[in-house]
Amino acid sequence: KFDITPVLAHFKINALNPAFSTGSVFGGNSNPVTKEIISPVDGQKIASVNMATGADYDAVADKAVEASKKWRTIPAPKRGEIVRQIGAALRENKDQLGKLVSYEMGKSLQEGWGEVQEMIDICDFAVGISRQLYGSTMHSERPDHRMYDQYHPLGVVGIISAFNFPVAVWSWNAMLALVCGNTCIWKPSEKTPLTALACQQIIQKVFADNKIAEGTSCLVIGDRQIGAQMAADTRVALISATGSTRMGKEVAVTVAKRLGKYLLELGGNNAVIISKDANMDIALVGAVFGAVGTAGQRCTTTRRLIIHESIYGAFRQKLINAYGQIRIGNPLDEHNHMGPLIDKDAVNAYLKSIDECKAQGGKFIVDGGILSGDEYASGCYVKPCIAEVENHYPIVQHETFAPILYLIKYETIDQAIELQNAVPQGLSSAIITNNLREAEQFLSYRGSDCGIANVNIGTSGAEIGGAFGGEKETGGGRESGSDAWKAYMRRQTNTINYSAQLPLAQGIKFDL
Ligand code: NAD
Repeated sequence: KFDITPVLAHFKINALNPAFSTGSVFGGNSNPVTKEIISPVDGQKIASVNMATGADYDAVADKAVEASKKWRTIPAPKRGEIVRQIGAALRENKDQLGKLVSYEMGKSLQEGWGEVQEMIDICDFAVGISRQLYGSTMHSERPDHRMYDQYHPLGVVGIISAFNFPVAVWSWNAMLALVCGNTCIWKPSEKTPLTALACQQIIQKVFADNKIAEGTSCLVIGDRQIGAQMAADTRVALISATGSTRMGKEVAVTVAKRLGKYLLELGGNNAVIISKDANMDIALVGAVFGAVGTAGQRCTTTRRLIIHESIYGAFRQKLINAYGQIRIGNPLDEHNHMGPLIDKDAVNAYLKSIDECKAQGGKFIVDGGILSGDEYASGCYVKPCIAEVENHYPIVQHETFAPILYLIKYETIDQAIELQNAVPQGLSSAIITNNLREAEQFLSYRGSDCGIANVNIGTSGAEIGGAFGGEKETGGGRESGSDAWKAYMRRQTNTINYSAQLPLAQGIKFDL
């Protein structure tokens, strides 16, 4: 049995206190509505948190606006130095924070630590970026003129995050937003507020040690109404929202109404094409990890396998054998491959999808179901399952956030790519092949339409160095590496005349 008490004490989260106060910086408790946080690992109550009210949010947003006027005056490399210290503090707290991520969200301990490692990595990356916020210089068509563009901070960045990557996604946004000179307001998922509180404890100390203004990186624990309030708030220049496509469509409309900026990271429906020229070992491990890792609750989880007809039967059998070996149980036990779903609502959505799949013609070759017994007392443990389907079934077109894998057969590579693209979402995609022509076609303009396209790697998991995000209903945003930092700044074009005349552009004459 896992004891979370020392971890809660480490982050000053008092499990015995029925209503953990979030304090003024985090959103206060002017009208303490509390929410119990139950671990999906063992069904135990971890703590209760006070949910912020609209008035609490307003007070925090005022602080963030005020702080942004100070933070932006600190030179970017010096802001990078603060982020470097945040990275160091995360390194020191990696063990404890990883355990809390695992216990609150239900992902494996390895993945909990991995998530904290991603936070450390993005800090390192952001430190480098803080000295590389480059604009371009252009040659002016006018004599003795200079033209260039430069990037300025936006002001306040609002971050809405999902339960499945409760801390990493925040850091992808916050660390870049901070080095770019913005202050941040984070509204984490109401399902995973404790990991957010732990992060806030870690970074508060760094900000305090460096005498940085309160309000530079704020946390508001609240439900979706607080997210909606933030989306409508003209004080927030950019809303970066991660979650379901349903949420993204609502946030996009709200932000667009005020012509604000948004960056959306929404649902995926990711497929792996398994060619007849695939290395079968890579295909099997990639497919199974992609489908059952994090209990199918990654935005990049493999939901569909598009398999060449000539190897379909043999690969299907390998999958059945592999699924028979998956160990499901407490994710803090490193021997287990798969932990629980986040809550009972997620379990019900999983069961409903299985029923719908059957009703639409799907044939299950590995059956699903809820697991019972002492180890599964939280009621959130389910069996990963596999169904043979056709791509056009409504359920296959939809992202179910659970370990349900769909098998689809193909004959030609053109057909496989068409099937891969024939869903509303466009996040991650992969082909397993040793055939150069197929691989290059998959990566070409007539190949995958996703934001992420991999060869001989599954769909799941990404490195922070690349820009992360997807097309179509995945929302079009890019976060993390490459030049994703540009989304957190405003571009300004400057033209300077150092001549004694005023020549006009396009040779226009205007003599007085
Ligand atoms: P969710 O949409 O239910 O909630 C996500 C966040 O949005 C929460 O903080 C929630 O409070 C907030 N929210 C919900 N409705 C809102 C509204 N109308 N206005 C403002 N805020 C609102 O998603 P979830 O169940 O927490 O997460 C799972 C989903 O997230 C999946 O669809 C998954 O694919 C997606 N996801 C995408 C990425 C990505 O990078 N593309 C990463 C992680 C998760």
